Amino acid sequence: SIQRSASALAASIEDGRFQISQDNMLPSNILFALYSPEGVWLDGNSRFMDGMPPHPGRIEQTHYNGHFHWLALDVPTSLGLVRVMISSNQQAVLERMLIIWAIAFLPIALLSFFGGRVIASSAMRPIRMITKAASQLGKGDLSGRIMLTGQTDEVGELVKTFNTMATNLEQAFEREKQFTSDASHEMRTPITVIIASAEDALHDDTAESYRQSATVILSKARELQKLLTQLLTLARTGQQQSSMVLERTELAPVLRNIALEAQDWAAAKAITIESVLQTGVFAKIDLMMFTRIMVNLIDNAINYSPESSKLTITLSGDDTSAVIAVEDQGIGIAPEDLPHIFERFYRADKSRTAGTAGRNSGLGLSLVQMLVQLHGGEISVQSELGRGSKFVVMLKI
Ligand code: ADP
Repeated sequence: SIQRSASALAASIEDGRFQISQDNMLPSNILFALYSPEGVWLDGNSRFMDGMPPHPGRIEQTHYNGHFHWLALDVPTSLGLVRVMISSNQQAVLERMLIIWAIAFLPIALLSFFGGRVIASSAMRPIRMITKAASQLGKGDLSGRIMLTGQTDEVGELVKTFNTMATNLEQAFEREKQFTSDASHEMRTPITVIIASAEDALHDDTAESYRQSATVILSKARELQKLLTQLLTLARTGQQQSSMVLERTELAPVLRNIALEAQDWAAAKAITIESVLQTGVFAKIDLMMFTRIMVNLIDNAINYSPESSKLTITLSGDDTSAVIAVEDQGIGIAPEDLPHIFERFYRADKSRTAGTAGRNSGLGLSLVQMLVQLHGGEISVQSELGRGSKFVVMLKI
């Protein structure tokens, strides 16, 4: 800029004076003067530079008052020396900035360091809490939850998911514990009876009393066997979802076969089985599991029905579902028992005293419900004490 201005000024000299026009485009902070070869001031906008030693051709830095910096350039011309100066505070600003930075660097560095640590530490807090809770879970303590509220970002979502997972795990674990304890409790009674009968037999001396003890032992052992089979099925069914093979099957022939077989068990109580089966109704079933569902429902219906009553199996269907109903004229279920009959080991008291006491585990319906759910279906029940019950299974077609 100074060079350009100096050349423009030198070129504008006429009659020993600068002829400045708009076209010269001089910067506003420029000082300029024309000196004769003898050093006499001839023209210019300042006499500030009078007496400075000439330094032609080089841009020099000069100080004024110790504060202001100037860039100065002398351009020799045939008429004399053109001297141009432009104030340049850049250097001063730079130096001052350098000093400010030098002073500020340490506090800024310290602030960044400690501030960074504080921010990182608070950002990491939820992660630390998750790690702690996860390791607590890993050690078997399922009660650990992450107490972090008000976090709505991804970490908050993670915390919520973690807590839900921990709750589900804890509930599943509790259920398993309850199940094991119920199962052991259920087994204790028949085992106690078996031991007592065996002890009796040891002291008995007549063939008749031996036979009596053996009969009791046999019946209790069968009871245990049934319980164990059901427990095993329940445990396996829980893991079986992936191994179930659902195939679209016409239900009427399957149900007809099951009803035919059931007729044999029903005959002991002179119960007649009537089947009303709509043909052409299909559903996606695993044949073995489906048979288990029906056998359990029919077995119950026979168990809880009086002699010479009627049991009806119906099949109907539409575009969306297949509906199978097993209806008996049995003892029925009290309204207060109805919500519980699908729970494991639940037995309605009234039915226990209705001639079948002791033979049943209370696991059948929970197994049925699990199997129906594995089929993606639903099971419901309507019942009236003393009149009978109707179990309805709805399956997807
Ligand atoms: P259980 O082995 O005792 O039959 P379930 O789980 O199959 O176990 O049934 C649970 C309870 O529901 C039974 O103890 C009985 O009280 C009641 N229940 C089930 N089916 C019938 C039925 N068809 N009629 C009357 N009560 C029934």
